[in-house]
Amino acid sequence: MGYLQGFAVTLRKLLKGTETGRVVTTQYPDEKRPKPERFHGRHVLNRYEDGMEKCIGCELCAGVCPARCIYVRGADNPPDDPVSPGERFGYVYEINYLRCIHCDLCVEACPTEAITESKLFEFSFTNRSDAIYTKDELVVGDDGRPQKLPWEDWKPGDDEHTSAWVRATSPSGRADYEGQVAWSGELGYGIRSPERGQSEDDSVEADLDDDHSQHHHDDHDHPHDDHGGHH
Ligand code: SF4
Ligand code: SF4
Repeated sequence: MGYLQGFAVTLRKLLKGTETGRVVTTQYPDEKRPKPERFHGRHVLNRYEDGMEKCIGCELCAGVCPARCIYVRGADNPPDDPVSPGERFGYVYEINYLRCIHCDLCVEACPTEAITESKLFEFSFTNRSDAIYTKDELVVGDDGRPQKLPWEDWKPGDDEHTSAWVRATSPSGRADYEGQVAWSGELGYGIRSPERGQSEDDSVEADLDDDHSQHHHDDHDHPHDDHGGHH
């Protein structure tokens, strides 16, 4: 199909939609569709409920990034004033958003759930250095929420479910673990609930509720209590 034929198809659809009131084209930015729960947007660096940073400076995220847009340097934690509960912490952390393709591989690689993504994608820059987010900009604030920078256009809900993939995945793909809470708490949110809707069986959901409440009472019963373990 040539260019003109392609445009003709578009024109016919538009005219037909105008007649019937069923226009399929969304008029961005005046009209917006809701973002999916697992939408990949601007990253955040998370903190534990006690305020410590989750990043341990291991550089796994930088190693796995296909766009080579993460730069991390780790450093030993000061014994008297540790930044993270690990031996080391992320001393330098940068993401270059001129390169990032929001594949989320960094999120999957992170052993401590330190790096996750919000739903924010509406941000632009007037210079290249603003496109390189530093640790000071990526780390969540004292309320556990992403910092809202002057050039970012946050919408309600963009800062919710920043750990969506973690809650959606059963560890190692084993069905037995579906819905099991195997992640650590987050500043401002606590221990997030597992994502629902992966099983057709209602009784499984009831079991998961029991498992979740039991987790709060006795972490030692959990099969993955060494996973990102800092509570
Ligand atoms: S989302 Fe993908 S491209 Fe972006 S920083 Fe993470 S690994 Fe790199
Ligand atoms: S964000 Fe995660 S994977 Fe990246 S350096 Fe920190 S702890 Fe390691």
